[in-house]
Amino acid sequence: MSHEPVIHTHELTKKYGDFVALDSLTISLEQGQILGFIGPNGAGKTTTIKILVGLSRPTSGQAFVAGRNCEKDVREIKRLIGYMPDVFGVYDNMRVREYLDFFGAAFKIPRALRAKRIDECLEITGSAYMSDRYVEALSHGMKQRVALARTLLHDPKVLILDEPANGLDPQARIEMREVLLRLSDMGKTLIVTSHILPELARVCDTVAIVTQGRLRMFGTLDQIMKQMRQRRLMEIVLVRQADVAKAAAMLRDRLYSNDEVKPSEASGEIVFSTGMEDGQIAEMLAGITAAGVAVLQFREVPLDLEDAFLEVTRTQLGGSGERPAATQTSPAPGVEHGAGTGSHKNGRHVTGGIRT
Ligand code: ATP
Repeated sequence: MSHEPVIHTHELTKKYGDFVALDSLTISLEQGQILGFIGPNGAGKTTTIKILVGLSRPTSGQAFVAGRNCEKDVREIKRLIGYMPDVFGVYDNMRVREYLDFFGAAFKIPRALRAKRIDECLEITGSAYMSDRYVEALSHGMKQRVALARTLLHDPKVLILDEPANGLDPQARIEMREVLLRLSDMGKTLIVTSHILPELARVCDTVAIVTQGRLRMFGTLDQIMKQMRQRRLMEIVLVRQADVAKAAAMLRDRLYSNDEVKPSEASGEIVFSTGMEDGQIAEMLAGITAAGVAVLQFREVPLDLEDAFLEVTRTQLGGSGERPAATQTSPAPGVEHGAGTGSHKNGRHVTGGIRT
C-alpha cells in the first residue's frame, strides 16, 4: 500500500464570526488507516468532516483527499469520499436493491454496471440477504449495513462514517467491526466517529482526540497509551483495612510531590498515580511491607482509550475556560496535564487519572 497521505489537513481552521469551531487542525492518514475521530459534543468533528466532504469552506488552512483540494475540487472530492451520516432518512415503499439502485443512479454509475456493483456492496457489507426487503422494515442494525453499502457504491477511496456502531447490539457491533476491518484491508482509508470508545479502540489503528476545536492527541493507539503511561495508575489492596492510613502516609512520603494518593479505608485499597519507574515503585512496595503492612494485591491499572479521552477532556475542563495552546504535533501524541474538576467513567469519578 502507498505511504502517500490519502487525507491531509494543514492548519485547517473554521470560524463562525468570532467563534473558532476548528483551530489549526493538521493531520495525515495513509491508505488503509482507520482513524478514530473522537471528542466531546461541539469539539469540531462535524466541522472537520463537512470541510473534508466539500460541504463547508475552511476560513484558513487546507484539506486534501488523494491530493485533491477539498475546497476547490469539490466534484472530484465527492467521487473520492463516501460519507455515511448517523441518520438513515425515510424511504417508503422501496426495497433495498431499489434503494441502492436509486443512489447508484445518483452517483452516475452506468445502468449496465449498477446491478453488479450493488451485488458487490451487498456482499461486502453482509447484507445480500436483505436485498428484496423493504427498507422501512429493516432493523436499525440492518439499516446501518445498507447505509454502508450505499456509501461504497461509487468505490470511494475514503470512507467517513459517523457513529456506525450507534444503537447496534453486541453481535451487530462485532459484524460492523469486521466489515470496517475488511474495508481497510481492501485499501480504503476510514475516518470513524464514535462515542463508544472501547468499540472504537478495537477497530481503529490511529486516534485523534479533539476538544474545543483543537487537536489534543494524535497517533497510533500504542503511541497514545505510551504517552498515558508516563503517569501510571497503581492499585494496592491491603489485608487489613486498619493499615490504609499508615500505608497511604508512607506512599505520600515516598512519591513525587505531584503524584496523587487516594486511600479508601472502606475497601482496604489505595490507588495512586505516579511518574515513577518500575524500580522505584518496587522499592516503595518493599518499604511498605517491611513496615508490617500486609499487601494482598499490587497491580498497575491498565489504561485504555476511554482513560486517554477522559484525561484530555478533564484537562480542558480544568482550565481557565480559555483555550490552552495545542500540545500535539504529528505523529507523537501530546497531552496536557493539569488540575482538573473531574469527569465520570462507568459511574465512577475520575480526578487526576484516579477513579474514586
Ligand atoms: P457532536 O459530537 O455534538 O456532533 P462536533 O464535534 O461534531 O459535536 P461541531 O458540530 O463540529 O461539533 O461543532 C463545533 C462547534 O461549532 C460547536 O460549538 C458548534 O456550536 C459550532 N458550530 C457548528 N456549526 C455552526 C454554525 N453553522 N454556526 C455557528 N456555530 C456553529
